[in-house]
Amino acid sequence: MRLIDTHCHLNLIENKEDIIKSFEENNVNFVIEVGIDIENSFKSLELADNHKNIYCAVGIHPNESKKLSNKDFDTINILAKNEKVVAIGEIGLDYYREYTTKNEQYYSFVNQFNLAKENKLPVILHIRDAYDDAFNLILNEGVNEDLGVVHCFSSDWKTAKKFLDLGFYIGIDGPITFKNNYKLVEVVKNTPVEYILPETDSPFLTPVPFRGKKNNPIYTKYIITKIAEIKNINPEELSEIFIENAKKLFRRIKI
Ligand SMILES: [Zn+2]
Repeated sequence: MRLIDTHCHLNLIENKEDIIKSFEENNVNFVIEVGIDIENSFKSLELADNHKNIYCAVGIHPNESKKLSNKDFDTINILAKNEKVVAIGEIGLDYYREYTTKNEQYYSFVNQFNLAKENKLPVILHIRDAYDDAFNLILNEGVNEDLGVVHCFSSDWKTAKKFLDLGFYIGIDGPITFKNNYKLVEVVKNTPVEYILPETDSPFLTPVPFRGKKNNPIYTKYIITKIAEIKNINPEELSEIFIENAKKLFRRIKI
């Protein structure tokens, strides 16, 4: 099975070079390293520049959106011009953790959402306990033509459908392999395979059977296999569909 991981944080893993070296033997076609703040976005781009099969997104996570200024958005804007940058992200709203105020998160999200439009790039959305507000913000600002993915989707089918109706993709992570995750299984059942992207969010959210250990992009295999089981599709066939989905959304992927 050819694997991809459309959302990982290799820079948060100590032995990342060992993991990257093992991509080839594990059939990892490409991965997207996602930025969480300015410094980490620079590192994401550096990692992507050094490895043919690594692309990146640059952006500031809602939890890192404290005391931002125009200068920060200008920096993201400059980084976004690089051809290995395939998206702006991860950006969004996170009411689960209150490291930042709602106002700080809004300011950060709106600025970067519009910056994605300016650069004709899709967005990688991080939304936690804030789906209605994020959805309304997107409607208010006007849906970007290049769309994006709702990363690590964790709400219900009704909410998923609202984003799908706008054209957004749904990112599915390790929690789909967890026991009794009926809500997410229903989302996967109802979402067309052409709108699903497999992602690990490594080093977090490790899927079964490695739950409790550190996650890495190779484990998308377990996520794809689980989705295939739910959709009653051959996993090899499904992983090829997912590769096409990723290339369609993240147009700068050239592999
Ligand atoms: Zn992430």
